[in-house]
Amino acid sequence: MKRIIYIPFDHLHRNFGALKGANPKEDVIALVESARMTTGRNWHKERLFFLISSARHFAKSLEDEGFTVEYVKAATTIDGLNKITEKHKNLLITCAEPSSFRQFEALKNHGVSFVENDFFLTPRPLFSAWASDQKSYLMESFYRAQRIRLGILVEGNKPTGGAWNFDKENRLPPPKKYDGPPYLENKRDVIDVEVAEELGHTPTTTWATTRKGALAQLKNFIDNHFAEFGPLEDAMTTDNWALHHSLLSPYLNNGLLHPSEVIDAALKAFKTGDIPIESAEGFIRQVIGWREYVNGMYWFLGPTYRENNQLNANRNLLPLFTDPNKTQMNCIKETVTDIDNRAWVHHIPRLMLLSNLALATGTNPQQFLDWMREVFIDATEWVMVPNVIGMGVHADGGKMMTKPYAAGGAYISRMSNYCKPCVYNPKLRVGETACPFTTLYWDFLDRHKETFVKNHRMSQQVFGLNRLSDLPELKLRAQEVLSGLEEGTI
Ligand SMILES: Cc1cc2nc3c(=O)[nH]c(=O)nc-3n(C[C@H](O)[C@H](O)[C@H](O)COP(=O)(O)OP(=O)(O)OC[C@H]3O[C@@H](n4cnc5c(N)ncnc54)[C@H](O)[C@@H]3O)c2cc1C
Repeated sequence: MKRIIYIPFDHLHRNFGALKGANPKEDVIALVESARMTTGRNWHKERLFFLISSARHFAKSLEDEGFTVEYVKAATTIDGLNKITEKHKNLLITCAEPSSFRQFEALKNHGVSFVENDFFLTPRPLFSAWASDQKSYLMESFYRAQRIRLGILVEGNKPTGGAWNFDKENRLPPPKKYDGPPYLENKRDVIDVEVAEELGHTPTTTWATTRKGALAQLKNFIDNHFAEFGPLEDAMTTDNWALHHSLLSPYLNNGLLHPSEVIDAALKAFKTGDIPIESAEGFIRQVIGWREYVNGMYWFLGPTYRENNQLNANRNLLPLFTDPNKTQMNCIKETVTDIDNRAWVHHIPRLMLLSNLALATGTNPQQFLDWMREVFIDATEWVMVPNVIGMGVHADGGKMMTKPYAAGGAYISRMSNYCKPCVYNPKLRVGETACPFTTLYWDFLDRHKETFVKNHRMSQQVFGLNRLSDLPELKLRAQEVLSGLEEGTI
């Protein structure tokens, strides 16, 4: 044997990373299930189940191919690698560049050698070159350059369909009664059962834990949901937990799918003429735009970026985030219950409900980030840090996003069916039945008016405060709301 190839649990693809060109006659494969990863924090069990079972299935597939596979449990990754090198002495360890600063540092200090991380479409130096050239790091500019660079949905340098985005078409509220095609259910096998028993968890049937299952999810999305993805991508409804979202992020993030495979499938379907441009563009933007941009920004902004708290938000994490019974706000209750059930909600509840609430209540960004990292099936450091610190709670002073995503109850009422049965009224900003989002939106603007009045994209909203004759009453109500949220009674 010539070398040890270390496979982190988010590099599970045979044709990318360090496994590209690997040979069963020369390479020992190392996987480590570290206690730090499994018991180190209050991880959602569905998430642990998904990550561990996927890794064990992947290890088995490499064994079936003839590889010597060492899958060990240890306190830390490094302890695990030490165990493996005791058995396979004098072999150097190689790995694809890891996906977080922390792991990069630990493996580098251990003497691991790296091959390029090609689990994305944009090499890290290429993104860094783009960002270094920008005055502000607009996703839209990156995305357009990305379309041209990759030759996706462009004719020459012009966008297919005559526009770079179709956001106007893609902001529909949910239909009155939504009855879409069902989502795939995954049968559990021996490995799944073993992992579930070890964790003391009854897994859902939602998430696949094999490459075959991930490919089936991709096919199901393309065949049954892709065409309608765009128009409903921002809608939220209690009729259906996923609408037409792809549910592909877990597999893209742990390596079971590569973004190029997802994009190839999407473009192939678009070429048939059955997929409207607003859905094709809307989905492709997420994968070659947002996902690549967020990863690029993680590496570009550096390891200290996650500590940003430029709005001085110091409130402790509210109890409603960990217990849906600690709130009467229907939208939050439903969303947190959905997360408890399957460790996933789509981007609008993540942004416009959870993050918006953390932003408006002045919740400490790092506590909120830690909670988000623990409960989502697809959460990894590189994707959560920019999404939460930059996009979600504007803790970076606007480095990533030019304005905070702050909104009152009117937005939630327009884009969902949460408000009708709720005890709170999105139209009211004062009084006992005022929607907490509406009250806190104005209170947030008032608290930070000096900061935001200088921002040309926010100044109009800040000037709106002048029209509020009930501002003193609203400020009092905001204090009641904040105390009620802390006590778990609002
Ligand atoms: C506050 C906040 C936290 C988030 N945390 C995560 C996270 O931990 N992991 C994660 O994968 N996504 C995260 N996202 C992005 C997005 O919410 C999820 O990727 C998406 O909901 C996953 O469901 P889907 O696969 O059905 O996505 P779809 O709506 O079908 O989109 C297709 C794909 O686009 C990619 N994508 C879209 N938006 C983003 C984005 N902002 N950042 C990165 N990739 C994106 C994902 O890979 C996704 O699978 C977060 C967004 C916000 C606002």
